[in-house]
Amino acid sequence: MSDMHIASSALRKATKVVFFTGAGISAESGIPTFRDQLTGLWEKYDPQRLETAAAFRENPALVWGWYLWRRQQVSQAKPNAAHFAAPRLASTGRQVAVVTQNIDDLHERAGSEDVVHLHGSLAQPKCFACHRSAELTPEQTTVSDEVALVEPPRCKRCNGRLRPGVVWFKEDLPVGAWKAAMNVIKDCEVLISVGTSGVVMPAADIPEIALAFGATVIHVNLMDVSLGGTNELMLIGKAAEVLSTLLSTISTP
Ligand code: NAD
Repeated sequence: MSDMHIASSALRKATKVVFFTGAGISAESGIPTFRDQLTGLWEKYDPQRLETAAAFRENPALVWGWYLWRRQQVSQAKPNAAHFAAPRLASTGRQVAVVTQNIDDLHERAGSEDVVHLHGSLAQPKCFACHRSAELTPEQTTVSDEVALVEPPRCKRCNGRLRPGVVWFKEDLPVGAWKAAMNVIKDCEVLISVGTSGVVMPAADIPEIALAFGATVIHVNLMDVSLGGTNELMLIGKAAEVLSTLLSTISTP
């Protein structure tokens, strides 16, 4: 039997399912992953070097400009069939939770509720100094394709610089996010891990944790990312196509 057949059979029987997602699920919505070469203004930058507290300290305008550009890119993107797979599965009466490493809001815009964002959100800036969250005015979220440097706005409370509310390398996850993820993962029968390279810790441990709790893990990726466990299935292909196929197999009698 193919992994698709086994995955379909596991999903048919499951009543509690978790989607665990990474940048690859948003790739078909036009949001580049860290593995994609950037074009235009940001071509010469390595995102991983812009996404640290040290980079922000050294050049806040460059890092703020980068995140404003990403925020704009996300606001122009639309969720794809892979994001819609979670609410589609929930509509069959199953309990479906979403735990994501993504900082975009495409799961929410596809209709998923209570999404656990392990790495924070582009939409919720906070103060670099006092950590209070802040709102931006529409003018403050607009960025031009020609301008990389944008001075971050100041915190209304302490006048510190605002920074994006995302988790940078070596920073802790948002309070409660890991616990919320574990709460749904310990109970699920199937975890569908979509578009993640499995290198960013501690999120990368999630498929293994789900396996340890007895779940079947279905990986969906362009390449084989399975860990070789007995309850693991590997569906290779684009997330939107693979998940649409998988869901169509469980909705037929
Ligand atoms: P990653 O960039 O390390 O890996 C992306 C994975 O997705 C790869 O394994 C790749 O093979 C796979 N992939 C690419 N296109 C795919 C497709 N169409 N269908 C299925 N799989 C596909 O991403 P990561 O594992 O999420 O970890 C890196 C960090 O990047 C995370 O912390 C995340 O917050 C951040 N990030 C987020 C976004 C976003 O919010 N959309 C975008 C870029 C990076």
